[in-house]
Amino acid sequence: MKGVAILGSTGSVGENTLDVIARHPDRFRVAALGAHRNAARLAEQAVRFSAPYVAIADATAATQLEAELRARGCTARVLAGPGALEEIATLPEVDSVMAAIVGAAGLRSTLAAARAGKRLLLANKESLVMAGPLLMRTVRDSGATLLPIDSEHNAVFQCLPRDAAPGVAPPGVRRILLTASGGPFLDIDARRLENVTPEQACAHPNWVMGRKISVDSATLMNKGLEFIEACLLFGVQASQVEVLIHRESIVHSLVEYVDGSMLAQLGAPDMRTPIAHALAWPERVSSGVQSLDLVRVGKLRFEAPDLRRFPSLGLAQEAARAGGSRPASLNAANEVAVAAFLEGGLNFAQIPAVIESVMTTTSGGEIRDLDDVLAADAEARDRASLLIRPRAVHA
Ligand code: NDP
Repeated sequence: MKGVAILGSTGSVGENTLDVIARHPDRFRVAALGAHRNAARLAEQAVRFSAPYVAIADATAATQLEAELRARGCTARVLAGPGALEEIATLPEVDSVMAAIVGAAGLRSTLAAARAGKRLLLANKESLVMAGPLLMRTVRDSGATLLPIDSEHNAVFQCLPRDAAPGVAPPGVRRILLTASGGPFLDIDARRLENVTPEQACAHPNWVMGRKISVDSATLMNKGLEFIEACLLFGVQASQVEVLIHRESIVHSLVEYVDGSMLAQLGAPDMRTPIAHALAWPERVSSGVQSLDLVRVGKLRFEAPDLRRFPSLGLAQEAARAGGSRPASLNAANEVAVAAFLEGGLNFAQIPAVIESVMTTTSGGEIRDLDDVLAADAEARDRASLLIRPRAVHA
């Protein structure tokens, strides 16, 4: 029986994780659940899975959470405030931590899980992008096991030798090919991008996901963040990572070896596959995902991305090449710009423009510790906010 803590349990990845866990009550038990402020959903989950600990980051929602739990006769211990998620990530009863908080808000709890030597199931890509060298060093020093949840990186992980060390390129790997669906605006006229709405941006053709990652998929920044993530997780140079548009979202990514072999992982676009893989690794368990009918799929197409239409990907690739604090600045500028777009304060085409301005007006630096990460993050957030205020479009 493995104890699992789910950070971000009320989100899309969190709910999918609970779905997989519910299929295997003999293998996994929910040791702790955590979220931001959705007290009602958190309470329902805690009751259904008999979670002994429930953490809520927004302390003002703690009273509601307590009331919802006690009304259902649930005795789970409630932890509240920003440190609560770190606390549940390090509990002795917890073997595996699903890091599924969205954005930089997940950084501290992800690092805490790594420091505590847990099996870290990493969905929160922003923490790796921001603090890559620090997080990878922490994983190595503590002996934590790092398993990628992003479907692309999980696919690459599955195509690498089992003994590959975190952050070290296994011998014989020539390239990593990351696939991207291209998002909902792959074919629309570039001039119309100015007028697309948050609802259109969040209507992903193949995946059902949270709003922030859906917008990132529409700008291709998601692939940019994944590009950075791939360099860090697998210890390859930026020049060894290629992005391919693959509209069907069936081939989740590929590894090319020096002998010309290309290994790929295929499956239906359903996050329960990488989640089940990481929960049970190195064993395999059912995930609830249907068999893929390749005859029905028929064609698998691959195209080069168009960086002129989707400049966010190019900006992320530059940040990956520059290293240091540049990925943290990129991530922060993107988070601010995406939040502004979702709130109607910025149009879609302005998202990469804001990020580019921030990248050209902030300086890079080394990432030695958490303070360096937080300083780069704060500087980029300030710059982005200043740029956005006078631009408001839908106000
Ligand atoms: P959602 O928006 O669906 O869920 C986000 C979760 O994070 C919620 O539980 C939310 O709690 C919690 N949260 C938000 N802000 C805070 C905060 N300040 N403090 C603590 N918790 C917070 O996101 P997704 O599930 O889509 O994505 C989660 C992560 O996984 C992201 O990093 C994303 O890039 C990555 N990912 C997602 C995939 C997907 O298919 N969705 C695929 C691959 C990676 P509350 O509900 O209380 O607000």
